[in-house]
Order: sequence, then C-alpha cells, then structure tokens
Amino acid sequence: MSDKKSPSSRSGMTPREREIRSQLARLVHAEGLLRGSLSTRERTCGKPNCKCAKGEKHVSLYLTFSQEGKYRQIFVPKSLEDEVRAWVVNHHKARDLLEGISLIYREKITKRDS
Ligand SMILES: [Zn+2]
Repeated sequence: MSDKKSPSSRSGMTPREREIRSQLARLVHAEGLLRGSLSTRERTCGKPNCKCAKGEKHVSLYLTFSQEGKYRQIFVPKSLEDEVRAWVVNHHKARDLLEGISLIYREKITKRDS
C-alpha cells in the first residue's frame, strides 16, 4: 500500500474517523462477514411418531438475502447456526461503520466554506 496519492489524508483524520476505521479494519481482517437476514421457521418432518406431529415443531434457521435482484434463502445447518449469527452481526456492524465514515465525508461536502 502507498499513501502517495493523498499524502494529507491521514493527518486530516479526526479521532472519530480513526476509531471507526480501526473498528472496521478489525472486522474486515479477522471476522466472518455475511449479508442477509436470519429468520426461523417451524416445520413438521412427516414422521408420524415424531414430537412435531404432536405440535412440538422443529425450528430451522434460514438466511434470506437478495442477489442479482432476486430474493433467495438458504437453510442454515444446526451446526453452523451460532457462527452464521455472528457473521451476520459482523456484517451489520461493518455496514454501520462504513455509514459512519460516509457521514464524515458527506459533511466534508456540505460544510465546506469555499
Ligand atoms: Zn419431526
């Protein structure tokens, strides 16, 4: 990486921007990131003697998201549920942090004197 393109960009950062960027960098470098929403669905499996036939239905987790303009959903295996929940939370955090940076740069336009 090189700073040659914008030598003054780092010195121009506020502490707030530095903090947001360091949080974002940590997420992007080290954590799983997954865009989408999680929802649960109850279902019956069809086995007549299963507990679900008596009303205690199986609860499955699904990830829903849009891709190339299409709405999609995928089943999340039980063994991955905790990880997938964390990835989705991380993506929300990263998106919020990016929005925070975007706000700072929007203000650079609107609060410019000259
Ligand atoms: Zn069942």
